[in-house]
Amino acid sequence: MKKIEAWPVDLPLKASFVVANGAMNVAKNIFVRVILQDGSTGYGEVAPFPDISGEDQEASLSAFPAAARGFLGQPATQFRRLGKQLLEGTQLFPALRCGLETALLDALCRAMDIPLWGLWGGADIRIRETDVTLPIGTTDAVVATARDWYHQGFKTLKIKVGENVEEDIRRVEAVSVACEQAAFVIDANQGYTFDQAHAFMQAMDRLHIPVQVFEQPVHRDNIEEMIVLKNLGAIPLAADESLRSLEDARQLIEQKAVDLFNIKITKCGVLESVRIAELAQASGVGLMIGGMVESRVAMGCSWGMVLGLGGFEILDLDMPLLLSIDPIQGGYQYEGSFLQPWHEPGLGMSVTSESDSMVSIE
Ligand SMILES: [Mg+2]
Repeated sequence: MKKIEAWPVDLPLKASFVVANGAMNVAKNIFVRVILQDGSTGYGEVAPFPDISGEDQEASLSAFPAAARGFLGQPATQFRRLGKQLLEGTQLFPALRCGLETALLDALCRAMDIPLWGLWGGADIRIRETDVTLPIGTTDAVVATARDWYHQGFKTLKIKVGENVEEDIRRVEAVSVACEQAAFVIDANQGYTFDQAHAFMQAMDRLHIPVQVFEQPVHRDNIEEMIVLKNLGAIPLAADESLRSLEDARQLIEQKAVDLFNIKITKCGVLESVRIAELAQASGVGLMIGGMVESRVAMGCSWGMVLGLGGFEILDLDMPLLLSIDPIQGGYQYEGSFLQPWHEPGLGMSVTSESDSMVSIE
């Protein structure tokens, strides 16, 4: 690799994104560009979510030069060795690691003239559907937003809960009445106590609401409670915040704590996420995939894992639809709730946004 660049980008959301642990109006992300000796260029995205890892745009940009220097002069074909090295050096910056790895892999696949999903083996090249996320809000507002998406063809609605269990139950019930055939993904973002999570699950059962998966009902360290909840209810349970490394994955599997893993490359990096997905598949744990507030660069890399590795049951890859800008040319496209596989080399996209505060390492 001969040159690695990073620059900040602000991605405004169409509407405020409110979840149990915070709210966001603008995603403060970073784009990364890797240029190989032969001129092949790849893009990556750093989408830090401070509540998950403590990273933010400023801290990630300051950590970028030291992390990127390890790539300089190194062949992109040795991406697993370089990824291990990066993992050791950027323990506290998983989103930065994700951005650098994505850009490296994109550049390599462009040099090899294969789509990024081809690197993972192209296990499942189908058009797939994503859910769409309904952040926390008043019941009326959330029902109106849900109706709107539902009439555009979105059949799986992801509802954020975890602030007030009684209101949450009323909101989910109201949305299920308004969108009769919809299926639901529920995400509490660690917001419930054990008793609240239990009450919520019982209510879903009593109201016959078709919940495909219940993500992270309680705090990420309360694995014992997750195990009890999993064994109590008929709703499949997923680990999101509890799953931040391969070691977490090993422990969750060993304890039979959850039914599914929610994989996010910004939480663990790309190569660690691939290792987690492969371990889950070998261990009979189901897979869903999601992201932070991010553009089609990071989400394209995740979509590439779905196409390349196969086995992902639930796709939560809707974030670019919630942004008010799309600073990307080319790449995979959405048609309503459907994601189209792409066939151009790498991620097949280029990033048009630039910035005066670009950091360049060469
Ligand atoms: Mg989640």
